[in-house]
Amino acid sequence: MTLPRQMLAANTEWADETVAREPHFFQALSRGQNPLVLWIGCSDSRVPAETITLCQPGDLFVHRNIANLFPPDDDNCSSVLEYAVRVLKVGHVIVCGHYGCGGVRAALLPPSPELPHVNRRIAPLRALAHAHHDELDAQPSDDARLNRLAELNVLEQVQRLRDTDIVRESQPAPLVHGWIFSLDDGRIKVVASGYPGDAQRDPGN
Ligand SMILES: [Zn+2]
Repeated sequence: MTLPRQMLAANTEWADETVAREPHFFQALSRGQNPLVLWIGCSDSRVPAETITLCQPGDLFVHRNIANLFPPDDDNCSSVLEYAVRVLKVGHVIVCGHYGCGGVRAALLPPSPELPHVNRRIAPLRALAHAHHDELDAQPSDDARLNRLAELNVLEQVQRLRDTDIVRESQPAPLVHGWIFSLDDGRIKVVASGYPGDAQRDPGN
């Protein structure tokens, strides 16, 4: 069986199992969504938001792109934030990066001629790497450099989100959190807590 066919068969199985376990599940789902969290993550297939946090359909409003970026002039990202904050009134925005991120790695390598869109997209990451080149150059290995830049990238996106009018003007403003996922052990580390009292304990801030 090809993978798409397998996926459709799995979907039927999932829908049947779900309704057997929770007879009103889809009735509730079709009434509307009320997610409490906007998740901004990387498109990487190994970092599926719901799976790694045991969330269910309806729990997370999700935006994913290469290297979990939030460029302020990007209507795609901004429309997701706007809708999540102003209409869905999420209480939390979580930026979740991950170690070993290919998008972050690409920003440390020369631009690839066959990937013009990716090159343009990750240009701010190259600028971020340049701004922190002293700290990055001091890392003991390429992997350490990549992983530190992945953390700095999460911190940068958290700051950009906190600086948006959408977040600042919202009453109450959603809390913006920065997380990073490890492919090695499946654990998430908090690199920027959204809880006000935790701010001074953020590493790298
Ligand atoms: Zn990634």
